[in-house]
Amino acid sequence: PYNGPSAADIMKKRLEFLSPSLFCFYKKPLNVVDGKMQYLFDEDGRRYLDAFAGIATVCCGHCHPDVVEAIINQTKRLQHSTVVYLNHAIADFAEALASKMPGDLKVVFFTNSGTEANELAMMMARLYTGSQDIISIRNSYHGNAAGSMGATAQSNWKFNVIQTGVHHALNPDQYRGVFGSDGAKYAKDVQEIIDFGTSGRVGGFISEAIQGVGGIMELAPGYLPAVYKSIRKAGGLCIADEVQSGFARTGSHFWSFEAHGVVPDIVTMAKGIGNGIPIGAVVTTPEIAEVLTRRSYFNTFGGNPVCTAGGLAVLRVLEKERLQENAFVVGSYLKDRLKGLQEKHDIIGDVRGRGMMLGVELVTDRQLKTPAKSEILHVMNQMKEMGVLVGKGGFYGNVFRVTPPLCFTKEDSDFLVDVMDLALSRL
Ligand code: PMP
Repeated sequence: PYNGPSAADIMKKRLEFLSPSLFCFYKKPLNVVDGKMQYLFDEDGRRYLDAFAGIATVCCGHCHPDVVEAIINQTKRLQHSTVVYLNHAIADFAEALASKMPGDLKVVFFTNSGTEANELAMMMARLYTGSQDIISIRNSYHGNAAGSMGATAQSNWKFNVIQTGVHHALNPDQYRGVFGSDGAKYAKDVQEIIDFGTSGRVGGFISEAIQGVGGIMELAPGYLPAVYKSIRKAGGLCIADEVQSGFARTGSHFWSFEAHGVVPDIVTMAKGIGNGIPIGAVVTTPEIAEVLTRRSYFNTFGGNPVCTAGGLAVLRVLEKERLQENAFVVGSYLKDRLKGLQEKHDIIGDVRGRGMMLGVELVTDRQLKTPAKSEILHVMNQMKEMGVLVGKGGFYGNVFRVTPPLCFTKEDSDFLVDVMDLALSRL
């Protein structure tokens, strides 16, 4: 049993001592005190089925015993910075990560977050090409430091500070976009940005293959191959942001870019890589990696032994428990069931995504696609009361984000859909 402070006590401290910009899901904020696989528990021991996994952060399940054990063992033995000495944990994890990458992507730089990974990736692209211009896609999220906030393309997350050198291309949005699912048509916008907005040479292009914060928007098919071609013709590098969509989540592939038949020059990752512990990474080719030898470069805690020991354990669990396959099988089942719900409830305008990265967009009018902003809050609260946690996102905040731990089962899927059905019926 939990004997710590109550939700109310924590809220009081939070209001006084923590950033006023923090936000909570739910009218009555949830005080989570324990986690076990696909479940979270509140202060009263009440169990919740977690279909958000801390923003797709937990991939093998909350407090997976193998990952916990690896972290504890390494913590007892040694915890320090990775800079200036050798330690096997970082090298072992780098080798294991490299083995999951296609092509010549095999040099790993560890960071502490997705933001840091994207900052580093964009800097390397700029250094390697000698060009400053980066192109990102509207509606994307890439981080909140100077460079990555520049690449992020939603006013919700952009502060009024200088963000230079990034052009934002048309979003190949298959639901609201002007060209529907015709990826090649959207890709022309990137060529036009190169032709009319730059010197004709660019540093690179960064994108998620499925926009997470943006509301689980899978880029229209055919878009990425066409864009990668344009970017490379203009001398640029292609960066895949796999922070949310990587690590087996999409089920059909280990990395979400693979579903589009492209091989990036740089891949960034975070969240799922550590199953909840803070670690991120940039993986690139030996040739591109060379740019960082022009100066001294280090990251004090990036790749520290505890986080890399945890990361290696995550990879092993993914393989041992065949979680990518589970993400595919259970994720496809869940998507089908959600599509079934769409037939029943007019308020569901779209069901989309892949594997265990699914989105359910709520609209008050299917023709006009009017975002159902207040309805979604109500349904989300109701679902929580019935013991199911889902996320929320999209520019208008009207999309359910269903990104559970990859150990989610068919029974869990049925429970989630039945609870969503009941909450929607009560609207
Ligand atoms: N890229 C993507 C696709 C993300 O979803 C996020 C976080 N939501 C980031 C980058 C930034 O990661 P972090 O919050 O770890 O800095």
